[in-house]
Amino acid sequence: MPDMMNLQPLKAVPMGENTYVIEDNMVRCFLFVGTKHALLVDAGFGGEGRSLMELVRTLTDKSVELVITHADPDHIGFAGEFDTVYMHESEIARYTAMEGRNDESVVPLAADCAIDIGGRYFEVLHVPGHTPGSIALLDCEGRILIAGDSVSGMPVFMFGEGRDIHAFMESMKMLSGMKEAFDAIYPSHGPIPLPPEQIDKQIEAAEMYLAGKLTPQEPPFPMPAKMYVHGGAGFYI
Ligand SMILES: [Zn+2]
Repeated sequence: MPDMMNLQPLKAVPMGENTYVIEDNMVRCFLFVGTKHALLVDAGFGGEGRSLMELVRTLTDKSVELVITHADPDHIGFAGEFDTVYMHESEIARYTAMEGRNDESVVPLAADCAIDIGGRYFEVLHVPGHTPGSIALLDCEGRILIAGDSVSGMPVFMFGEGRDIHAFMESMKMLSGMKEAFDAIYPSHGPIPLPPEQIDKQIEAAEMYLAGKLTPQEPPFPMPAKMYVHGGAGFYI
C-alpha cells in the first residue's frame, strides 16, 4: 500500500464504450455508464485533497450507484462521498467498523441479483475466499468479469482474518465453469485485462499449495505472510 500522504491524483482512462478505468495509485475502480444510471465499482484509497465523486461527475451526469467488491481499505476509501454503498452482507460488519458508517446508506447486495443501468446488465456473483463477502460482477453485454481482488495477475492476498483458501478454490471453480460468458477479466490490481484462463491458473496454484508442493518465498515487501507462486498465479498466505 502506498504512503497515504503521498498519493497521486486519480486518473480516468476510457476502456471501451461507456466504460472508464479509474486508477488510484496501486488500485483501480471502474465506472460503467448506462442509458439510465452509472455503476461505480469500488472506491479506492480515499485521502484528503482528492475526490472520486468530483472525477465521476466529469465523466457522467447520470445518477451513480456505488458497489464495492469487498471491504478492504483500498476499495472503500471514497465510499463516504456517496449517498448509498452496496456490498455483500458478509462485508458490512467490517465496513462499518472501519468507516463508522452504520445506517440505511449501507445496503446489502443479494448474490445472483442483476444490476440494470439501462442497456447493460451486471450479474452479482458471490466469490468468497479473499474475503467472506467478496463479489465479482459479470458485465453480460460487455462480456467482462470485474473480479475485485479474487482474480489477479499478481499473487492474491490470502492471509489475515476472514481469508479462506478452501472457499477461494470453490469460488474459482464456479467462475471457471462460467468462462463462456466472458472474454476478459478486469482485476483491481496489476495487469489488465486478464484472459479467462487466469482463473484456472489460480485453481492449479491453490491445489499445488494445498498439496504442500509449493516452496514458500519471501514477499517483495514486508508482510506477515509467505509468497507461493506457480504457473503465473499465486498467493500471499
Ligand atoms: Zn485490493
